[in-house]
Amino acid sequence: MDSLDRVLARHAVSRPDQLAYVCDGRRVTFGELHAASDTWARALHTYGLGVGARVAYLGKDSVDFVVLLYACAKAGVVLVPVNWRLAPAERTYLLNHSEAELLFIEAEFIDPEDRTPVADRPLPRVVLPSTPQEDDSAQPKDAVLLEHWLRNAPDMTGGTRAHRSGADTPVVQMYTSGTTGFPKGVVLAHRSFFAVREALDRSGLDWIDWRPDDVSLVCAPASHIGGLWWTVQGVNAGVTSLAMRVFGSREAVELMEGYGVTTMCLAPAMLTMLLREPERSDATFRRLRKVVYGGSPIPEVLLRRCMETMDCAFVQIYGLTETGNTAVCLPPADHLRDTALLQAAGRPYPGVGLKIVDDDGAELPAGEVGEVCVRSPAQMVEYWRAPDATDETVVDGWVRTGDAGYLDEDGYLYISDRFKDMIIRAGENIFPAEIEGALAAHPAVADCAVVGIPDERWGEAVLAFVVPGAGAAPSPRELRTFLRERIADYKVPTAFRVVEDLPRSAIGKVLRRTLRAPFWAGRSRHVN
Ligand code: ATP
Repeated sequence: MDSLDRVLARHAVSRPDQLAYVCDGRRVTFGELHAASDTWARALHTYGLGVGARVAYLGKDSVDFVVLLYACAKAGVVLVPVNWRLAPAERTYLLNHSEAELLFIEAEFIDPEDRTPVADRPLPRVVLPSTPQEDDSAQPKDAVLLEHWLRNAPDMTGGTRAHRSGADTPVVQMYTSGTTGFPKGVVLAHRSFFAVREALDRSGLDWIDWRPDDVSLVCAPASHIGGLWWTVQGVNAGVTSLAMRVFGSREAVELMEGYGVTTMCLAPAMLTMLLREPERSDATFRRLRKVVYGGSPIPEVLLRRCMETMDCAFVQIYGLTETGNTAVCLPPADHLRDTALLQAAGRPYPGVGLKIVDDDGAELPAGEVGEVCVRSPAQMVEYWRAPDATDETVVDGWVRTGDAGYLDEDGYLYISDRFKDMIIRAGENIFPAEIEGALAAHPAVADCAVVGIPDERWGEAVLAFVVPGAGAAPSPRELRTFLRERIADYKVPTAFRVVEDLPRSAIGKVLRRTLRAPFWAGRSRHVN
């Protein structure tokens, strides 16, 4: 199996002058990416960061991040991307927990007075200039500018690095974004970025294909598996990838039109933003040939709107950080074959196992809802420094996803929702995603989220948060009537709250836990 560094080295020879990655006006070719990551890898090595050491990155998406990723891959060092949206205490937790020995930090995230300790131990920092004129003297203790770090590396002449990565060499440690609680460090090896691709190639399937002249748009942040995986897929394919410091629909539209984007990967919330973007024109999706989407359930009404608006192939992917991103795929042809399949997440890639189990771990037949379990050659090595959590999640080689779902007779997976978000009302299981999907079809609803709140009589009641569209907010009565025609009576929310917007994660997943928390303060839920 290939490795990140070997692929890049090959491209540096076969297409040195082709643009590899563009972000915020900075561009690198494959040749430049290879050369820069070689220099950084040598520096890592001479500073004593050996195979298996952890190095963290705190910043937005940038060319420097990608150079660092490939430098780490070359040096055998594990890169820990830190989500810059985290609060200082959460960042500190990650930096402590990961045992990072060096932090690459963008200047804009440096606290000039160094009030907040970055970790509970000395942690050297290399400052990446967000702006070119950063002044060295302004840097706090333990921080050194990148150019000095490179210039002062003890021995840059040596050149050779003994390390040779294999499919199972850890390369990144991704902290799950925390929609379900305490962050865990998911260790992924090189194979997580190749296994699916190789399985598709071996089977001659074009589910996610690449063409030499593809131009790829990266929408999810690189601190999230979705963004990182897609970035690496673009490099693996030897095509040009475009990224944004932070996803914004206006910039996405500019890039799509300016560069003629042909393929992109994004979460449903980002698709909604693109469709609503006022700057969008007929030219925006002109060259688009494939849209890969996933990361959260997609309301059918949104998928249909996208299929009407974008004249291209659609691919849904389902997976978790723990499964090395996608394990299940709804290929383009299935989007056109049968309308019922528009509600499916897809079927497993060749070589990936998929089963549904009950509470005791016994496999359930088609049609029955249980916990989705995945066994994939792309799955994680382990949770870092958490053997018990690893054993709880990976049972006999199968990743327990925490998602509720079922398989149909043909082996297609349907995701109901996360078990943690399931509402239990009078003994009935209710999945918020189903209600949200129905509510999203109401023309006056721009956005919505559904959670379970405590209820004296029924255990839990269904509460819907509704963001109205341009006009007046629809009344609860109107929404109830609308929903009664689409979902069973007991699922219809008992209460509606009109809000201006919803709390969301970096890739736009609604943070239901945040919405639910105030209602459950001091009480325990079936799963918190
Ligand atoms: P955390 O795991 O801490 O909650 P997160 O949600 O960002 O954070 P990920 O590993 O990115 O972590 O998310 C995986 C989850 O996203 C899956 O378990 C599933 O609930 C949801 N998901 C991913 N793809 C799809 C899809 N195509 N359809 C429905 N849900 C999806």
